Amino acid sequence: MNSNFFLTEEFIEKVLGKNGPLSKMPFYEYRKEQIRLASLFGEILEGKGIMLAEAGTGTGKSLAYLIPAIALKQRVVIATRTKALQDQLADKDVPLAIEILNQKATYLKIKGKANYLCLFYYDRFRRNPLFKDPSETDLYSIVEKWATTTKTGEKSELKELPEEIDFWNQINIRQERCLLSKCPFFEDCFLFRLKRNAEKADIIITNHHILFADCSLKAKNVSASVLPSFNNLIIDEAHDAEDSATTFFGVSVSKRMIEEWIYDCLREIQPEKRHKRKSAITEEVERFFTSFADIPERRKLNIEEISLAKNNLNSMISSLSNFHASLEKKIPEDIFIGLNERLKNISESLSFIIEEETRDYVKSIEKRNSNVVLSASPINVGNLIRETLVSKMKSLILTSATLSVNDSFDYISKRLGINADFHSIRIESPFDFRSQGLFFIPDSFPDPNSEEFLPNAIATIKNLIDFSNGRAFVLCTSIKNMKAIYEILKNDTRFPIFIQGDMPKGALLKEFREKGNAILVATSSFWQGIDVQGEALSLVVLDKIPFASPSEPLVEARIQELKEKGEDPFNLYQLPMAAMILKQGMGRLIRSKTDKGVVACLDSRLITKGYGKRMLKSLPPFPVTHSLDLVKSFFSRLK
Ligand code: SF4
Repeated sequence: MNSNFFLTEEFIEKVLGKNGPLSKMPFYEYRKEQIRLASLFGEILEGKGIMLAEAGTGTGKSLAYLIPAIALKQRVVIATRTKALQDQLADKDVPLAIEILNQKATYLKIKGKANYLCLFYYDRFRRNPLFKDPSETDLYSIVEKWATTTKTGEKSELKELPEEIDFWNQINIRQERCLLSKCPFFEDCFLFRLKRNAEKADIIITNHHILFADCSLKAKNVSASVLPSFNNLIIDEAHDAEDSATTFFGVSVSKRMIEEWIYDCLREIQPEKRHKRKSAITEEVERFFTSFADIPERRKLNIEEISLAKNNLNSMISSLSNFHASLEKKIPEDIFIGLNERLKNISESLSFIIEEETRDYVKSIEKRNSNVVLSASPINVGNLIRETLVSKMKSLILTSATLSVNDSFDYISKRLGINADFHSIRIESPFDFRSQGLFFIPDSFPDPNSEEFLPNAIATIKNLIDFSNGRAFVLCTSIKNMKAIYEILKNDTRFPIFIQGDMPKGALLKEFREKGNAILVATSSFWQGIDVQGEALSLVVLDKIPFASPSEPLVEARIQELKEKGEDPFNLYQLPMAAMILKQGMGRLIRSKTDKGVVACLDSRLITKGYGKRMLKSLPPFPVTHSLDLVKSFFSRLK
């Protein structure tokens, strides 16, 4: 350690240690590992370099990075995974860190533009409210009242508003329709106010999406970024960063995007003319999307449909352009220009997806509820992250409860383009997994890919749920399994049961906690980032080892890329990725020192295959059992 540095272990001990200001807080616990982690983070921030830090649940990693980040007195950007985690940092952890450091520091939360109210489009909507869903009028009156008082325009201030409201899309900020300095509300605009404040902030709390959207915009020399310049970066929940980067370095266009564009054009013309115009134009859109015969959850585009889509694309874009041109002089000029920008963006993106011949991107189509999405996703996102982000940072910290596999950071560092020297540290969770829980793996069970697997899995889940008295998450690796398990259980259980999608995630978790003995059947989005402390969650069942499907277009392309380089895709990519997700799924169970319960994984490959045994070594050290009787007596003892 350089003696000129001040973010030393001694300094951190004074803040987080037994006699420091944090110790005066009622929830204080002395955490030796937190102090060690914070001083290592301090060394990186104050010196320079890259650190990958795995800090198990309960280590207190947020304060461990916030204390040195704030004490540094330079701008530090913190990017976490979700908006909810951003709120937690901005509303609780950052103010606490500032208080215990007794230091002045400015901080600001930056979410995606669509989360903020656009004063211009709100003003237009207010004068002529048009609801696609009339049941939303009551919600609109809440927004109307709030719009006159809000200082930030950030939708999450309205706790009573559901996450998905249709009219919000008509009044929120969208880059493609922003009028910039021509806007009459420019001076008061929430976005530009946020940008100005960001220039003065020490700590910026953002999320992976904004971070990678910013990199992608800067890489294209587009000056629409909200983040100010920075060279100290902390990426929390970094295990998930590759997915966000893939989205934002890629291109996608949805059918809904086009329909919304048409809707916004139509709302500018007289009501009696709308219907006729709409049917002519939507026919062209439908024709374009019929170029793609069968649209499953997600699949790669094939050559025949690409060639058909090329013809239909030209015809659709020329109809949309003619339609737009016919509006000139009939609608305000600024709206006309905004709609033109959006159409240009749709057209350029579609022509990249359909017409560009490139081996660096995988082109795919997928159905998301009633929407259809066409995408081009970069196969190797690590190179892009390295060029646009890693190489530009003075200090970079990547942290998460799950970053390593078999004590190695090779997988995550390669995926995120960190080839240069980096420091790494693994800090075990302070929880006592040996006494707090049990890991059930059946030693003889049908192969997860066989037809017998699901009926056997359901029978075992029923037993497990009986032992635990509900209080269970059943986390599945596919929608098919989730639905099948839910359909049988819902007619055959005495406990309240929910399935993912029943209601928005936050409301679902609230219901689950409040019921106290409920069962939740869910897929991938519940394997991580969910925190249910206490007895309401005492059993976590994972149906299988979460291997990504090799037929998923991006996974297939990444496997192919490694094969072409002569590398082993199973051991270098599929296995570590599955191990990280499995670790995340198991991590849902023990969230505090007093939590107790059972994790079950109904995939006996964990003990019968060599790779399964290697995987086991990366998982939390619960005692493993193959006996349902032992699970039963574990829960009996808990009672
Ligand atoms: S400047 Fe852009 S984002 Fe801001 S109010 Fe005007 S149109 Fe909306």
